[in-house]
Amino acid sequence: MTTQPNALPSAAELTPEELAENRRYGQIQLLCDLADRAIDLAFLALMAFLVAPHIRVAMDDIFPIDTVRLLSYFLLTTALHVVVSLPLSYYSGHVLEHQFALSNLTPYSWLLRYFKQLGLYIVMMGLMFVGLYWVIWLFGEWWWMVGAVAFFVVNVLVGQLAPVLVLPLFYKIERINLPELTERLERVAAGTGLSIEGVYRMDLSVETKKANAMLAGFGRTRRVLLGDTALANFTPDEIEVVFAHEIGHHVHRHISKIMLIGLFSSAAGFWTCDRVAMAWARQFDPAVDYATFPVFTLPLMMLALRMFTLLLEPAVNTLSRHFERQSDRYALARTGLQGAYVSAYRKLARMNKDNPHPHSLEVFLFHSHPPMSERLAMAEGT
Ligand SMILES: [Zn+2]
Repeated sequence: MTTQPNALPSAAELTPEELAENRRYGQIQLLCDLADRAIDLAFLALMAFLVAPHIRVAMDDIFPIDTVRLLSYFLLTTALHVVVSLPLSYYSGHVLEHQFALSNLTPYSWLLRYFKQLGLYIVMMGLMFVGLYWVIWLFGEWWWMVGAVAFFVVNVLVGQLAPVLVLPLFYKIERINLPELTERLERVAAGTGLSIEGVYRMDLSVETKKANAMLAGFGRTRRVLLGDTALANFTPDEIEVVFAHEIGHHVHRHISKIMLIGLFSSAAGFWTCDRVAMAWARQFDPAVDYATFPVFTLPLMMLALRMFTLLLEPAVNTLSRHFERQSDRYALARTGLQGAYVSAYRKLARMNKDNPHPHSLEVFLFHSHPPMSERLAMAEGT
């Protein structure tokens, strides 16, 4: 048997065996995800209603400074959360990925990445909660509005900076010199107001066999980040059509719309926190006010925010799937590469072990992207 030196993964339809395997992978992932949410809610409820009120007086004695005490509640909650959630995270993030031959990590390198992400989470969320409580202490009953605006500004900044500052912490990213491909992508972006600063390779393969591609950077000048897994397995036509999909998000202003919706939903979320946490704090001190708002309410705030995001998730996902369909239509119209679109998505389904036909309830509740079968049917119908 001879194999071609650079044989690409097949762009044929998934075989019945592949379909069955992808479906099984999707089902186990869904179960893990549901269990993870249940563990999160149960743990945060326990912290909010039992642990935090119980240790309240002792914590007041040990950490007299409010900000320090707030951070102590945050670190304690986060540390205990790691203890209860790490086994499932390890199973779904490492064991399962290896069972389905999707991961390239050793247990040690997986743990290293897990703790690196945790460190980043502690810094970002620690700062956010300190900021939020200071807004409560300083702005009183309108804090939820001020908080939402501040959160919006931080989101815009982090959204712009994260791909440039955070991704390099996890992947080696280097500029690649492929003049033909760069010229092609510049042609797709021409006239959209976006210009391409450069094309970069991201070594996703240290971690996974899955493929990915994205646009990152400031304002109108973006870098194109292509996973080495996508670069190695996609034809230039397929890369062009995937790239045109990303341009579609820009042309339809999806990011700005999501940010704006985020502003209103975080105001609603913080207002809910205000009602819930204030009522809870009054149980312990009927004269409680905003200027001295107690920090033992932090786990309850975390619980309220988590529940609020979970309840909002189906609506956010429905909007996201609408945006994805818009970008898909844009990519097809812009490039006219219908064949490459179909083969790119078939390869993605094969490489990422996507189930092309998930249950419609699962899609409605949890999926930010339309099922692969729907995306392919759309292309074949055009
Ligand atoms: Zn998209």
